[in-house]
Amino acid sequence: MIIERKYKGNSDLNELMLAETLFHNANGYIGVRGSREEGQEDKEKTIRGSYINGVYDIVEMKQAEPLYGLVNEKQGIVNVADVQDVAIYADGCLVKVQSEEIRELDLDNGITKRKFTYKSVNGGSLNVTITRMASFVRLPIFLLKIELASDAKMHIQIKAKQSSAVMNFADPSDPRVASEVVCHIDPLEASIKEHIALLTSKVKKSGIKVSTALLDTLDNTYSHDELDTFSSTLSTFSFTLKKDEKRSFKRIVAFADSRSGDNTVERAKKSLIDAVKAGSEKLFKEQHDYISSFWSNVGFSLEGDEELEKAFRFNVYQLLQSAGKDSISHMAAKGLSGEGYEGHYFWDTEMYVQPLFTLTSPHISKALIEYRYSTLDKARANARLLGHKKGALFPWRTINGSECSGFFPAGTAQYHIDGAVAYSVIMYYQVTGDKEFMTSIGLELLIEIARLWLDCGNYHKGRFEIHCVTGPDEYTCIVNNNYYTNLSARYDLHYAAKYVREFRNNESVKALLKKLSFDLNEAEEFEKAEKAMFIPYDEELDISPQDDSFLSKKVWNIEETPKEMFPLLLHYHPLTLYRYQVCKQADALMGHFLYEDESYSTLLNSFRYYEKVTTHDSSLSRCIFSIMASRLGLKDEAYKYFSTSAQIDLLDTNKNTKDGIHTANMGGSYLCLLFGFAGLRIKEDGFYLQPSLPKEWKKFTFSLTLRGVRLHIIITQNECLITSEDNISFPLYINGDKVSIKAGETIKREVK
Ligand code: BGC
Repeated sequence: MIIERKYKGNSDLNELMLAETLFHNANGYIGVRGSREEGQEDKEKTIRGSYINGVYDIVEMKQAEPLYGLVNEKQGIVNVADVQDVAIYADGCLVKVQSEEIRELDLDNGITKRKFTYKSVNGGSLNVTITRMASFVRLPIFLLKIELASDAKMHIQIKAKQSSAVMNFADPSDPRVASEVVCHIDPLEASIKEHIALLTSKVKKSGIKVSTALLDTLDNTYSHDELDTFSSTLSTFSFTLKKDEKRSFKRIVAFADSRSGDNTVERAKKSLIDAVKAGSEKLFKEQHDYISSFWSNVGFSLEGDEELEKAFRFNVYQLLQSAGKDSISHMAAKGLSGEGYEGHYFWDTEMYVQPLFTLTSPHISKALIEYRYSTLDKARANARLLGHKKGALFPWRTINGSECSGFFPAGTAQYHIDGAVAYSVIMYYQVTGDKEFMTSIGLELLIEIARLWLDCGNYHKGRFEIHCVTGPDEYTCIVNNNYYTNLSARYDLHYAAKYVREFRNNESVKALLKKLSFDLNEAEEFEKAEKAMFIPYDEELDISPQDDSFLSKKVWNIEETPKEMFPLLLHYHPLTLYRYQVCKQADALMGHFLYEDESYSTLLNSFRYYEKVTTHDSSLSRCIFSIMASRLGLKDEAYKYFSTSAQIDLLDTNKNTKDGIHTANMGGSYLCLLFGFAGLRIKEDGFYLQPSLPKEWKKFTFSLTLRGVRLHIIITQNECLITSEDNISFPLYINGDKVSIKAGETIKREVK
């Protein structure tokens, strides 16, 4: 499947910035925005970045009133180099888009293309096709190939640059983007040896070193190279392109950074030489094979809705591009597609994105959890800073594991991030049954998070309550007994105690409990708090109130708020918002979706209630409404919420995709399909499916890997077919009835 867009030579520059995001190339380690190789005149209106996941700088964040424990510096994603600067001159003039270019993202081959025709001053037409790829198989490798063909003789000159004199982007008017333009990179050295051009630089305050090594060739011939300055290299090719002749320029770049080892120069060089030896055809083939296997694990197709199928595939592909796969990086809210939210990692990954990987490519989920585990000591230190005697509190936003939230009411106070980490551990274990994981890192995370809940809550009149936290809805801050937070704390307390009991005789768990000075009395404390956990409920309205005070506030009139005042966060003081019943995103409904404790009438009443007070100013919201609508049997509403949310980036409906994709929302479209339309539930006692398709769809298929067994599921308006590649040994329920399937067998059930 190919995503295609057309852009004029004189396209609006905002549209081109959007194209830079939509057509970026990334693989979870590197990300290169899809800027025009030849550049553009207005440098302010392009976000021409290349990023390495986990490479950050430290930026001062002065607090005007320096209260104890407030964060004074933050990390930020760094534009590490410009490796996409290739200017072509035809008969002495710069080749650029004159009328129109076509951009393509090929979701089956993992490449992007840019195609246009250029009319030379001498009348000939030059066809330019540019193909790019960030290799999923060789994470340090980026490839750029330019094919030229002309209908007349033309003199061509190619000037291909590489530079570490680069800046980050800033937008002082938008709190979701860095506010000051800063250069984060100190170039250290540049060299060219045997045509390999090398740059090394150091990130100013974090001290992380980055090297890029590249080789430019023209049909296997080398360029005339020069060191332009100490921070850039230039390769030049000059030749005559004959009528109907084709020539091909290739650039292979390898990135290395010092977080995972010394000698970045040698490591970049080695990756480059290996890739050059393999040759570009092999690199493209490897990419194709990797993507094919990924898609066959996802097993997705949708008949009857081409546009939504496209949007869904685009979203899932972007998640594959965005997720860190090396256990020392995680996934930024914008992936590696832009600089929005300064490259920070949030709860977005665990709650919205990880289920896709857990259910289809669990090794990626595991690597993401390993990253969190690698920051556990920092989370412990964070908990101490916040006054907790025990436990670990993961930072609300971070890159290296330390808190980056400057505004704690809508940041650090979101303790539910701990619930998200615990949830991802529990789901990964329930889906894979990976005991080795649970007894090595999973349980330690669960225990430290459960300890945090115990320490931050307190008993009041026999109830366990959690005060002064912020739930997912950032328009309601620092509240008591946030419904969602209390549910997620209860969930973690339950599983931490359960798995401690289950694995307490395992040798590594014994060592772990000793290391943590944990005895079974503590497990009893967890269970006691779990049972006594206060879960707010309003009898009169028969809904779950978002927190203790939410329902006593005045209601914001969303309908009468002028359109241009949204998102509210850009137009109203936070305190104004906090005084109203107005939600930025699903909060209590998120609790209903995940922990599903309430009766049908409460779920329905809550759905109707929160619909009226939610602005969906956060892209994380609509998908959750869609899932809940599916569960409540409100098919049309589920479909409506799903279609709006699935296309947020492709249609740029939030008007900020130029700063990067919305990964949580993209993961949300997967959640809608699986947990909404297919009615998937993962429970302690097995896996449940309760399918129900919107009337617009004919057939929807997907695959799941449960406990190592791959299942293929087809859902139509009337029936659900499941084929298993192996015998299943776990309980599986369809519409509430337990089924058993043997290897290669297909079973059929009615869709009610
Ligand atoms: C949302 C958060 C989310 C963050 C990053 C905010 O607008 O309110 O829930 O984690 O964006 O995507």
